[in-house]
Amino acid sequence: MSWSFIEVIGQESAVALLKQAYHLKRIAHAYVFLGPEGVGKTKTASLFASLLVCENVRAEDEPCGVCPSCLKAKSSNHADIQWVWPDGQFVKIDAIREACRRLSMKGFEASRKVLIVPQADSLNDESSNALLKTLEEPSKDTVIILIATSLKRVLGTIASRCQRVIFHPLDPRVLEKLLSEAHGIARAEAAYLARIGQGSLGGALRYHEDGLFSRKNKMIENVLDPRKRLDDVIDLSKHERAEKTERIEEMLLVLSTWFRDMLVAKISGSPGEFINIDRKEDIVRAAQAYVFSDIEARVNAIAETRRSVERNANVRISLTKLRVDLWKQ
Ligand SMILES: [Zn+2]
Repeated sequence: MSWSFIEVIGQESAVALLKQAYHLKRIAHAYVFLGPEGVGKTKTASLFASLLVCENVRAEDEPCGVCPSCLKAKSSNHADIQWVWPDGQFVKIDAIREACRRLSMKGFEASRKVLIVPQADSLNDESSNALLKTLEEPSKDTVIILIATSLKRVLGTIASRCQRVIFHPLDPRVLEKLLSEAHGIARAEAAYLARIGQGSLGGALRYHEDGLFSRKNKMIENVLDPRKRLDDVIDLSKHERAEKTERIEEMLLVLSTWFRDMLVAKISGSPGEFINIDRKEDIVRAAQAYVFSDIEARVNAIAETRRSVERNANVRISLTKLRVDLWKQ
């Protein structure tokens, strides 16, 4: 496995900011890496921590990847790089206290100590306040990295003490290339996953492992077949809620992307913007059967149904209503 920032795809500005800080010896005491799930934040944190403890940094501000410190950093085994994960729903206060205590002690192996909180969204008020003390009075040569998907759930007083490093959703074309070339996913599926994954490699890979692609095409066949339509889903809703809700949400997601694509076909007629890019001809053909406002009304009906399902309203009634809304004349 190579060990370089080159592996962080599509996050050039975040990587440049960190490398620059290292190069100029202007490393902040605390960073918050902000961005959607599955775009390289954790990988970047690992590499940056490795760079900070590396014994033989390469000329281009890359960790060498082979010194004892890098080897330990790679295997998450370095005594001066702490990772504090949630225990259950939250990052516990005791874990933060212990991590901060170790941060205040002299380094075991390296001259710098790093604390990484990979799911800072899961800090609760107690653990946030424990962390705040350390952020307010940072020890010399310590670096704290919080990783979060949104600042909404990170305490404002904490966020204001961290330098923000923004990670962006990946461009669908970049993601598609990555899925097919680095992960060996077939072209048609990679193209679809890159678009449904909303710029997240992690999200797209989860959909892949979950077999969404073949299921969604089966669902679309049902949607296109006037004898079937939502029958399968409505049957599903008779079963136990917890295990079926996920499938119903998935069905609604597939439906919403299908009608959304039809809307795109009407507006721009540009198949490159379709999510179901593997079904271009079907979408264009299906869109011809409707006027714009009819498709728009259907997109809205699906959105409304998704909200009802989220609110745990009566799913069967919601879906029956949706079927009427989708196929009324
Ligand atoms: Zn090294």
